[in-house]
Amino acid sequence: MSVLLEVDHLKTILHTGDSPVRAVDGLSLKIRKGETFALLGESGCGKSMTALSIMRLLPDSGEIQSGTIKLNGTDILQLPEASMRQIRGKLISMIFQEPMLNLNPVMTIAEQINEVLRHHFKLDKKTAQNRILELLNQVGIPDASQRMHEYSFQFSGGMKQRAMIAMALAGNPELLVADEPTTALDVTIQAQVLDLMRQIQQQQQMAILLITHDLGVVSEMAHQVAVMYAGEIVEQTSRENFFSQPAHPYSRQLFASLPEKQKRDQALAVISGTVPSLARKFTGCRFADRCNHATAYCHEHVPQWHTIAANHKVRCHLYDTAAEWVEKKPMSEI
Ligand code: SF4
Ligand code: MG
Repeated sequence: MSVLLEVDHLKTILHTGDSPVRAVDGLSLKIRKGETFALLGESGCGKSMTALSIMRLLPDSGEIQSGTIKLNGTDILQLPEASMRQIRGKLISMIFQEPMLNLNPVMTIAEQINEVLRHHFKLDKKTAQNRILELLNQVGIPDASQRMHEYSFQFSGGMKQRAMIAMALAGNPELLVADEPTTALDVTIQAQVLDLMRQIQQQQQMAILLITHDLGVVSEMAHQVAVMYAGEIVEQTSRENFFSQPAHPYSRQLFASLPEKQKRDQALAVISGTVPSLARKFTGCRFADRCNHATAYCHEHVPQWHTIAANHKVRCHLYDTAAEWVEKKPMSEI
């Protein structure tokens, strides 16, 4: 499958407090056409800022400092905002945890989908109405021909999320960025919405960047998994490798801290300590304060990427070769 989205050395900072917060710090990833790429991590690790950088929808305090974000080979960071408006909703769409943030309370569902259609296509009224109905049917809204004229407050949580997905699909995007799309829903509805996303993906060969803190969602949905910690990716591999041989100590601790029976079906369990402040400067491994394997060396040296198998890379000193270890170790310690 060819590459749809390629993010290279992305650095996004937030100017909020006294010192800049490096929310995304040198992140690289590739998403292929039609695949689901899960970005997994605890809250505050920079997942949402990665998504908003890709959409170029950062808050006013946010700034992309460097890096490239190529969509079908074009660096969208170089495009004027007017071109970006043509891409958003058409080539890339986004759905959020909280549909109310995206749905307009004073427009009917049909009117809102129509806005997207009007922005991207020239459809006559009849064709637009048919398309709206088709989209609402596709996302499983019952009595769509009636309900399309209702307002979002008349919809349940699950139905709102379906309506938001319909809006996101209106432009036939090649990439859907889904930030914790089911976190606000109860378990049954969550399973239905995930099913729906999977079905749509298969029908339309759409790629999904799935942002989640939930191992269960990753195991259900992902083809590829990237584990994010403190602004950077620390492990990247296929779902199969990730669940059978998690390699980074952080990934392993995530699994180990889950109750045995529920291992693959739970939100991330708590690992003692917290994600470090991203306003801080790091001298070594960012996970060192919480890692079961940390050594003094880890605190002082930034780990580099190691490819440990086909399609499996990890950023941790445990995988340093002897030569690298000797090279990086201060003479006094050899
Ligand atoms: Fe743990 Fe050291 Fe690996 Fe960091 S580099 S994850 S501290 S073993
Ligand atoms: Mg978030």
